[in-house]
Amino acid sequence: PEFISVSNLADVIGVRPANFVSRMEDMGFEDVHYDHVLDAETAGLVAAEFNYEAIFDDGTADLTAAPPPEDASDLPTRPPVVTIMGHVDHGKTTILDWLRKSSVAAGEHGGITQHIGAFSVPMPSGKMITFLDTPGHSAFLEMRRRGADVTDIVVLVVAADDSVKPQTIEAIKHATQANVPVIVAMSKIDKEGCNPDKVKQDLSVHGVHVEDYGGDVQAIGVSGKTGAGMIELEEAIGALSEMLDHRADTECNAEGWVLEASTKSYGRVASALIRRGTLRPGDIIVAGTTWARVRTLRNEAGVAISEATPGMPVEIDGWRDQPAAGTEILQAPTEQRAKEAVDYRLERSETVKMGEDMAAINEARLEKR
Ligand code: GDP
Ligand code: MG
Repeated sequence: PEFISVSNLADVIGVRPANFVSRMEDMGFEDVHYDHVLDAETAGLVAAEFNYEAIFDDGTADLTAAPPPEDASDLPTRPPVVTIMGHVDHGKTTILDWLRKSSVAAGEHGGITQHIGAFSVPMPSGKMITFLDTPGHSAFLEMRRRGADVTDIVVLVVAADDSVKPQTIEAIKHATQANVPVIVAMSKIDKEGCNPDKVKQDLSVHGVHVEDYGGDVQAIGVSGKTGAGMIELEEAIGALSEMLDHRADTECNAEGWVLEASTKSYGRVASALIRRGTLRPGDIIVAGTTWARVRTLRNEAGVAISEATPGMPVEIDGWRDQPAAGTEILQAPTEQRAKEAVDYRLERSETVKMGEDMAAINEARLEKR
C-alpha cells in the first residue's frame, strides 16, 4: 500500500529535501526522487537514520465510536436536541428562562434548577425536548468545529419589532451549513410596533422561506414575557421532531458529548449530552485525554439519577482530570482499557504523524529518539 513520499517524509522530519535525498543515497538507495513513495517499513528505516523512531500501530489501543446504525427504525425514540440562536437582545435567554420555569412549574424539578448546559422540558404530549442552554450559540459552534452534530433543530429567534439582523444571518448560515432544520420564533410579539410580515419577508431574502412565503419553515409569534405562543412553539418542535423521527440505541456502549466542565463542591464535574446507549453510575468513560468512573449522575435539578439515556442532559462526576467542552464521551469496558486509550491519545498528540494517506493502512508515527 501507498505510504509517504520522500519529500513529505523530509518535511515531517524537518530536513531539506536535497539533503534528505543525498542521505538516502548514502544509505544505499538508488535513483531517489522527491515524489518516490516509500512503504512503511522503508520510511521507518530512513527515519531511523535521522534519529526518529517509527511507531506502527493499528489504533486498537484507542476507543472509537460505533458506526451509525444502518436501520434505526426499530430503535427507541429519543428527545430532540434544540439550540436557540439569533441576534443579541432578540429574546433567546428570555425564551429559555420561560421554558425552564414552565418545566419547574410542571413539577419536574422541585423548584431548583442548576446550570448544566442543557435542560429537558416535557411537551404538552408528555414527550421531552432537550434545549442546549445559553450560550447555545457558542456551544453549537464549538461542537460543530469539532465535527459534532449535537443539534437536531435550530430555533431561530427574530424579534418581531427588529427583524433580521447580522447575527440572525450568521445563525441562518450555521444552521444551513450544518444541515439542521429551522423553526422561526418571532419574539417579543407582545410589543407594539411588531411587524411579523416584515420578518417573514426579510427571512426569505436570506433563504429561510416560511409558510405563506414560498416555503415550509414554520414561523411562530412568541413572547417570552407573557408566554404567548410558547406552547405552539413547543408543539412545532415536537411535530418536526416526530417527522424527523429521532431514534437511538439505548443498549449499546454509551456515547455522548461534554457540554461544559467545572469544579463544584463535590468535585470535578462535566455536563454531557448522551447520544447513544445508557450511562449508569459505575460505568467507565473516556473523554479526550481524561477518563472517569462515573460516581454520580445528576439531572439539571441536581437530583441523582440511576441512568441517562439518549438526548438526556446529565451531570457526571468522577473525572480524573477536567474534560474539555465539546469532546466526545465513549464508554470503555474496563478501567484498564480507558487508561490505555488515554495513554494512546496522549502519546499520539506528542508525536508527528507521517503522511495523510496512512489512515488507509496501519497508522505510523514518528517519535524523536
Ligand atoms: P438575548 O440576548 O437574545 O438572550 O435576549 P434577552 O432574552 O436577554 O432579551 C433582551 C431584552 O429584551 C431584555 O430586556 C428582555 O427583557 C427583553 N425581552 C425579551 N423577550 C421579550 C418579549 O417577549 N417581550 C418583551 N416585551 N420584551 C422581551
Ligand atoms: Mg442571552
